[in-house]
Formats: sequence, structure tokens, C-alpha cells
Amino acid sequence: MPGKTIFQKIIDREIPADIVFEDEHCLAFRDVNPQAPTHVLVIPKRAIPSLDAVVDSDQTLLGHLATVIPTLARQLGLSDGYRVVINCGPAAGQTVDHLHLHVMGGRPLDWPPG
Ligand code: AMP
Repeated sequence: MPGKTIFQKIIDREIPADIVFEDEHCLAFRDVNPQAPTHVLVIPKRAIPSLDAVVDSDQTLLGHLATVIPTLARQLGLSDGYRVVINCGPAAGQTVDHLHLHVMGGRPLDWPPG
């Protein structure tokens, strides 16, 4: 299928990724360009281009992503806390048009972000 995003290719196992969690609805893998000692991306298997594209029928899926994250954070040893980021649109730095939640931790995280 032409026009697949890089994350769709990871879901389809066409390119490798360091997968740390998977279930029926989502996949989590380490960011290839980590911005913190632990930096994982959580993505839905169903392709949603961005947070700006979500609709009412996505509520259960988005809730699922949110509930996966604390379990994942414990698995990753992020006991001191972590940050969850969704970049939405070009002005926010979104570079891959497949909804993804950044989960970052393992160092103090400044606020506000850049
Ligand atoms: P964003 O800028 O919010 O769209 O985030 C996209 C993220 O995907 C960036 O942090 C990239 O480093 C990461 N990324 C891009 N390609 C890959 C890949 N093949 N495997 C893992 N992470 C990737």
C-alpha cells in the first residue's frame, strides 16, 4: 500500500522497532531518537492521523491508550514520574501522521517545554 506512514510499517512489521508492549489495540516501541533516557511511543493500531482527527467513536480507543500508559511506565521503571506528550500539527512538531503518545522519563523534565 503506497503512502503508509513509518508507524504503519512498524505495525505491519515491514520495518523493525524495539517493541516494549503490544496488545490488540496498540503498540509501544522505543523512539529511535530518544529525548530522555526512556522515550517510548504508544500508538493505536488503527491509523488516526493526529489528535485533531479524533471523533466520538475513538473515545474507547483513546481511553485504552491512556490506561495502558501507567502499566507501561511501571514496566519501564519510571517510578519517579514521566511525561506524556502528543504533538498535534506542524506548529507543535508533529512529524508522523499517525497518532502517537510520547512517554518520556528517566531524567528531570523541564517545564514549560520548548
Ligand atoms: P512527532 O515529532 O511528535 O511526530 O514524533 C515522531 C517521533 O517518531 C520522533 O520522536 C521520532 O524520533 C520518532 N520516530 C521516527 N521514526 C521512527 C522509527 N522508525 N522508530 C522509532 N521512532 C521513530
